[in-house]
Amino acid sequence: MSLQTPEEIQLIQSYFEDLLRSCTRCNSQDDVELIKKAFNLANEAHKGVRRKSGEPYILHPIAVAKIVTSEIGLGAKAVACALMHDVVEDTDYTIDDIERIFGKKIASIIDGLTKITDVFDANSTIQAENFRKILLTLADDIRVILIKLADRLHNMRTLESLPSTKQMKIASETIYLYAPLAHRLGLYAIKTELEDLSLKYRYPQVYEEIRSKIADNEKRRVQLINHFSLPIIQKLEENNIDFEISGRPKSVYSIWKKMQTKNVSFEEIYDLLAVRIVFNPYPHIPEKTQCWHIYSLITDIYKPKPDRLRDWVSTPKANGYEALHCTVMGPDGKWVEVQIRSRRMDDIAERGFAAHWRYKEMDATSQENELDKWIRRVREMLENPQENALEFLDEFKLNLFTSEIIVFTPKGETRSLPKGATALDFAYEIHTEIGNKAIGAKVNHKLVPLSYKLNTGDQVEIITAASQKPTWELLNFATTAKAKAAIKNALKGEAKNRIEKGQRMLEEKLLEMGIQPSSRVFKKILPAYEVTSKDELYAKIGAGLVSLENLKRILKKNTQSKWIKYWKLQLGFGSKPEEETDAPAKFDMRKPFLLSNVADADNPPYLVAKCCNPIPGDDVIGYVSPDEIVIVHKAICAEAVRLMAQHGDRIVAAKWTSQKALSFLARIEVIGTDRMGIISELTKVISEELMVNIRKFHIESHDGIFEGFIDLYVHDVTHLNNLIMNIMRVKGIENVKRMDKFDD
Ligand code: MN
Repeated sequence: MSLQTPEEIQLIQSYFEDLLRSCTRCNSQDDVELIKKAFNLANEAHKGVRRKSGEPYILHPIAVAKIVTSEIGLGAKAVACALMHDVVEDTDYTIDDIERIFGKKIASIIDGLTKITDVFDANSTIQAENFRKILLTLADDIRVILIKLADRLHNMRTLESLPSTKQMKIASETIYLYAPLAHRLGLYAIKTELEDLSLKYRYPQVYEEIRSKIADNEKRRVQLINHFSLPIIQKLEENNIDFEISGRPKSVYSIWKKMQTKNVSFEEIYDLLAVRIVFNPYPHIPEKTQCWHIYSLITDIYKPKPDRLRDWVSTPKANGYEALHCTVMGPDGKWVEVQIRSRRMDDIAERGFAAHWRYKEMDATSQENELDKWIRRVREMLENPQENALEFLDEFKLNLFTSEIIVFTPKGETRSLPKGATALDFAYEIHTEIGNKAIGAKVNHKLVPLSYKLNTGDQVEIITAASQKPTWELLNFATTAKAKAAIKNALKGEAKNRIEKGQRMLEEKLLEMGIQPSSRVFKKILPAYEVTSKDELYAKIGAGLVSLENLKRILKKNTQSKWIKYWKLQLGFGSKPEEETDAPAKFDMRKPFLLSNVADADNPPYLVAKCCNPIPGDDVIGYVSPDEIVIVHKAICAEAVRLMAQHGDRIVAAKWTSQKALSFLARIEVIGTDRMGIISELTKVISEELMVNIRKFHIESHDGIFEGFIDLYVHDVTHLNNLIMNIMRVKGIENVKRMDKFDD
């Protein structure tokens, strides 16, 4: 065992002392003792162990503890737990030891942290399932999840020393799981850093390019902001307001994401200026009043844009965010966004609801109540497993911070529901079967539809019919996670039936033709039916959306496609993946696959994902489907991010090669004012001047405005952008933009 050198011992000591100094919330002697005790135990337990970077292991828990206190704002117990978060996981200490030395509470938090790690280390578990487990532990103690986030943040900050394949997996997981979680919990600063670090390791070149551009432009931006801020500073000082003003730099990730989704240049995004004013409020005057006072002083100087006023002071966002946002015309003829917040609002915005509860601490009982309610809702949601974790989080967020209503059953029992809940939510609250069979309700003895919004004190009776079945429309009336999950489950049951039916139909048809349904067969028919998985194909067949009439022809043909080309995929290691083995494991993440335009039926084909329709020039990744077809997604595509996190081992880097020979289908949306002959002019520009083939043209005109879309074949992003520019020049055209998602 390599023990610590005297220098290292000193280094550890100085890190720890720095941690103690930053624990501003640990004011009692007991707190300090607790932290010291935890540190001594952890230091002893990890002694001689080093991280991949070579530094003593204990520096990691100290750093995590520091994040927990100074960036999330938690107290002594959490700091102690952070210091010991890897002890049970990595050393000989057991949970019983911890409980014996530190008591039940701390032991249960460390137990939660250990279990979360277990969940993540099992390679093949479905991530969404992990999510639920995380949230389940969260329900026991919110600190578990906050410490876990701090742990992940420090691991991301030190990701440098891991091998690149590991970096990719961890970075994808971070963007898929941890950043949204941080966002939902309102930890904006941590969320932003996680996103940036994730981008840095997923797309190093892109990251570096944007980062250096930011550095180049920073000076000019600061000048502009100073020029804008000076009159404001003067005015606010004259009015004796205690404040800070800062130019809000945009994160690398947010710029990249905007460039990708809006298809605009770096400059167009970066030039948008924003400043933030954080004031220390006067006591006895409502913060809201003071926000509007500052707003009024600023708009005395600069003219506001009326439609850009966002008042989250009167009505905070669902996750607790409060601020007043407005956009004003700056001195350089540029619109500038101004965010006005009190110190407390700023704290909540940056550090999330941990801070929220801290501000509520004056009233301990109401704080307990809020927390209890929230935990109960979380539990409720956890009891209703759903497939899509992000969706789950969205609903989770909606249920956060919403207050409750109390309603009565016909027998006079009370039920609590979130504010805004409908009669349908109530039906599902009583029982899933009642929800599934509900057709209407009686509220206070009056007949109402299921969409009826309930109020506190309502007495509700649900009317059911045995023949009733849940429909998609019904989802619109469901607001609670419980009701939504139940409806989706019921609908999924039907989808499952369709899949089974489709599978039977296909297998019978193949049998008729004397063909076994092998992976070779599927490799041919999936692209032909323009689907990316067997289930998708079965569902389409089962629903009668595709016919099997042409199956024979498809299987006879070597290659066939209407507009999806499949092209030779030049494998990085020069051979094609073996059939029916775990082929992706052999893919070398460091070498991108070349998406070549040389068509060759012998090589594994690839498909363009329909959720994002990438074309050459877009940043892309490849996902090797269970049917061994490489599906190419835009790197920005939400589905791609999900796949990277869930099936990191099936992701291959992909890169376009020369692409002039063949064309890709893209859809553009056009909006303009209607005039005689504009359509013919439009088609002329596209097909004659630009020599582009149009596949579909759909325009609707009403009240002098026309809008629609055009599907056309382009070579790559540059080609498409040129085209868009040219169409923009047609008189009467107001806006042209690329659409990512479209079906055939
Ligand atoms: Mn750790």
